[in-house]
Amino acid sequence: TDFGFERVALGAKQSRVDAVFHSVARRYDLMNDLMSGGLHRAWKTQLVSMLRPPKSRPFRHLDVAGGTGDVAFRVLDAGGPRTQVTVLDINESMLRVGAERAPERFAGRVDFVTGNAESLPLPDESFDAYTIAFGIRNVPRIEAALAEAKRVLKPGGRFLCLEFSQVDLPVLDRIYEAYSFHVIPRIGARVAGDAESYRYLVESIRKFPTRGAFAGLIEQAGFRHVSDRPLSGGIVAIHSGWKI
Ligand code: SAM
Repeated sequence: TDFGFERVALGAKQSRVDAVFHSVARRYDLMNDLMSGGLHRAWKTQLVSMLRPPKSRPFRHLDVAGGTGDVAFRVLDAGGPRTQVTVLDINESMLRVGAERAPERFAGRVDFVTGNAESLPLPDESFDAYTIAFGIRNVPRIEAALAEAKRVLKPGGRFLCLEFSQVDLPVLDRIYEAYSFHVIPRIGARVAGDAESYRYLVESIRKFPTRGAFAGLIEQAGFRHVSDRPLSGGIVAIHSGWKI
């Protein structure tokens, strides 16, 4: 049946993604810096400044597809002593790197959980906020991930997603296209020994819904006051929504 075919295709997509991140886990942070020219740091800083974790109140945060903990550590730095972060990822190799690199000052305030964004092993209404950075594009069923985000958030909870988007400046788009198709796979080959995986990631960026379409999916999942904000000429965007 068509459904059977779709299930196999989605399963294959996830296996492919898992293989990519197992192979790059150790070099993932370095690769991010090289490929984005360090820009991913500014984008993540912007994400956390939109989140504004409170300085004194308790705050339970969930970072999905959290990988090596980059976003989680920034949330902990921006928040107060009662900010607690759960880093969830499907890939144990990525989480292991994150746990090793977690600064001592965050001891007891961060935990690492293996799980799938499409079926979170976490209770209903247990988090004040949910972030996913450069993760949702890798998840085969985006709608399932959004429904799960809504489920685990408390009423009044915030959803924020940082993801690659569409460049809408006439010259930048040409440069970006050339960079993605020629430079990224080469850096992937040199540094991670794996051009094919990086070609696949570039492809997944192209296939991801436009800002408007993705905002529509977030609304359909039941979030309110949905907005999107392009950064760096649309190379990436931050989508925001509230569970009300
Ligand atoms: N958020 C981190 C960052 O911004 O540096 C890591 C982003 S990395 C590009 C994508 C991550 O998504 C990987 O760690 C991968 O294992 C994870 N991932 C892929 N599919 C997933 C799924 N279905 N559920 C949870 N995590 C997933």
